[in-house]
Amino acid sequence: MNLLVIGGGGREHALVSKLKENRDVEKIFCIPGNPGIAKIAECVELDIMDNAALVVFAKEQKVTLTVVGPEIPLSNGIVDVFQANGLACFGPTQAAAQIESSKTFAKNLMEKYNIPTAKYAVFTQADMAKAYINSQGAPVVVKADGLAAGKGVVVAMTIDEALAAVDMMMCDGAFGQAGSQVVIEEFLVGEEASILAFTDGKTIIPMVAAQDHKRVFDHDQGPNTGGMGAYAPAPIITPAISAQVLKEIFQPTIAAMESEGCSYCGCLYLGLIMTADGPKVIEFNARFGDPETQVVLPLLDSDLVTIMKACIEGTLAGTSVNWKDEAAVCVVLAAGGYPEEYAKGDIISGIDKAEEQGAYVFHAGTAGCEGQVLTNGGRVLGVTATDSAIKQAVDKAYQAIGSIKFKGMHYRKDIAFRAIKKNADASFKNI
Ligand code: AMP
Repeated sequence: MNLLVIGGGGREHALVSKLKENRDVEKIFCIPGNPGIAKIAECVELDIMDNAALVVFAKEQKVTLTVVGPEIPLSNGIVDVFQANGLACFGPTQAAAQIESSKTFAKNLMEKYNIPTAKYAVFTQADMAKAYINSQGAPVVVKADGLAAGKGVVVAMTIDEALAAVDMMMCDGAFGQAGSQVVIEEFLVGEEASILAFTDGKTIIPMVAAQDHKRVFDHDQGPNTGGMGAYAPAPIITPAISAQVLKEIFQPTIAAMESEGCSYCGCLYLGLIMTADGPKVIEFNARFGDPETQVVLPLLDSDLVTIMKACIEGTLAGTSVNWKDEAAVCVVLAAGGYPEEYAKGDIISGIDKAEEQGAYVFHAGTAGCEGQVLTNGGRVLGVTATDSAIKQAVDKAYQAIGSIKFKGMHYRKDIAFRAIKKNADASFKNI
């Protein structure tokens, strides 16, 4: 069979690598892909927002399963158009993808169906939003309603910061239409984790929990980024918490979506915060997370093609989803200057050597030129290693990174520090 993957980052590289393990897969196309993906799939230049052209391509190439990576094509209705053309496409419909594309939709759904989340209010007028902030005090969280490439959230520690965020989103139009409506949210305190789940709209099966590192520098210092690394499993998500999250968050959310007439099929990403009152939802994403996917999929011990088809066909309940008894760690190698302005076009060396050392090197922001791989984004590569435990996987990932070089390269040296500390504390208690 032939498959098609939409997207071109580290997440899509991890998806293509896993899908390729199925022996019946003859060819994988990736639109647009990247130089790392090009080693294992055929990358094609086509506009990922042109649903009609994508349908023509999928039909011409006899694609039997399409997998959508990023959120923008999902909210552009790619799944609806593929379905209407009789093509199997893994991901939620445009209506169901609102769980990510509209924070107001997600918050109203959670409120209506008693799914634990931060208290909130929604505003379409800046002066009303500001009056509410003044009445609530700080810290407080200001969120643009629509898609803002992961930049639409301001965690304001002072009232002035929150008021400035409202101005930036609603008056200056920093995110265009996406910021014309804002959600003002209660500030929650606790450790965060991400849990991705497969669902066919009725059954939902969580994947191993992951934690990512959003701040650019060690010890969670410096500005937020798209993610500087991740690891799985996250020890904070114990079996008991996992069961609680399934019962109190995942299952009611899927049932709520069905009741609202927009049944959700695909991968549902839950951003979770462990508050003193239990786990609460920070956000839902309508797709695989990045870099979490780069640590979760290498641990999957079942066939991804079979699982995705079961999600589309509504047979997930009868499908086994097993996990390796291992840990995975991903360290993101970033371009000099990231997350502020950064250079592009620097030569990257040592990728092959790092792969020979047993690491996956997922390409996130690279370009190919005359046989060389060049930097072409802020987050350039995700180096993932798996091993029997987190500490071993960490050591293996950093060892492989020692082979990779490019001008200005920087990365965090403390990925998975929380998990390593938790595991050390646990073994100390057992002595
Ligand atoms: P989001 O884009 O919704 O994932 O938000 C980005 C980050 O903002 C999250 O990973 C949290 O660290 C933080 N955040 C979002 N909402 C809240 C909240 N209600 N309380 C505290 N921190 C939050």
